[in-house]
Amino acid sequence: MTTPPGLTVALDGPGSSGKSSVGAAAALEVGYRFCDTGLLYRAATWLALERHVQPDGDRADPDVLVALVPEIALVVDAYGRLSHVSVDGVDVTGDVHSPRVDEAVSAFSRVPELRAALLERQRALAAEPGGIIMAGRDIGTVVLPAADLKIYLGASVEERARRRTEERGIAPDSQEARRVLAQLRRRDDLDSTRDVAPLRAADDAIHIVTDGNRFEDTVSAVTSAIRIAEASRSVGAAESRR
Ligand code: C5P
Repeated sequence: MTTPPGLTVALDGPGSSGKSSVGAAAALEVGYRFCDTGLLYRAATWLALERHVQPDGDRADPDVLVALVPEIALVVDAYGRLSHVSVDGVDVTGDVHSPRVDEAVSAFSRVPELRAALLERQRALAAEPGGIIMAGRDIGTVVLPAADLKIYLGASVEERARRRTEERGIAPDSQEARRVLAQLRRRDDLDSTRDVAPLRAADDAIHIVTDGNRFEDTVSAVTSAIRIAEASRSVGAAESRR
C-alpha cells in the first residue's frame, strides 16, 4: 500500500488566533509540513523599517518593497516546519515579532505588488511534495483557493489580546495591555478592509472558535478535521477506481 501524499490545508484567521502555534503543533502530529506566511510579511516589514522605507502602505514605493523579497527566506526545522525566517542568512524571527513590526505590518501588507511577489513564494512552497498546513490571512481565498481543506480559526479580540499579553509577560490591567488590544483591533480592521486579499473566511472553510479552548483542544480539532478530510479523500479515490 502506498502512503497517501497528504493534503493541502489552508489555516486562516486574525492575529493571535493561534494559527501559528496550533498549525505547527498539528503539522507535527499529522506528519505534514507547516508554513507560517505571516513571517514573510513581517520580515518584509522589518527590513523596510531597517531601510527607512515609509510604513504607510499607500506611500511606500512598491518597487523598493518588492526588491526586498529575495533577501527573505523561511527556515525549515527538523520536522519540515517553516516557523522561522531569515534575512540575508541571519535568523530574525525574534525581531519580526517586535511591537514595532506589529504596528507597521498591516500597512505594508496592503501593497498589492508586495503581496504579488510573496504569493508566488507561497504557492511554490505549497506545491512541494507532501502534505502542508499553510497559515495566514488569505490562504483559503487567494493563495490556495483549491486547498483540500480550509479552516478558519476565530476568537474574540479580547481573548486574542489576553493571549498576546500573557505570551509577552504584560500585566493584564496595564496601559501596555490596553495598547495591545487597541492594536489588534486596528490590525483586524486594516487586514479585513484592504482591497487586495482581505482577511476573511473562505465560503467553504470550517470555522473553529477558540475562545475558552485549551491549546491542546484546538490542536486536536484541527488534526481531527485533517484526518476526516484524508479519509473522505481516500473513499473518493477508491470509488473513482471502481
Ligand atoms: O499572522 P501574523 O499576525 O504574524 O501576520 C502579520 C501580518 O501579516 C498580518 O496582520 C497581515 O497584515 C499580514 N499577513 C497577510 N497575509 C497573510 C499572512 C499575514 O496579509 N497570508
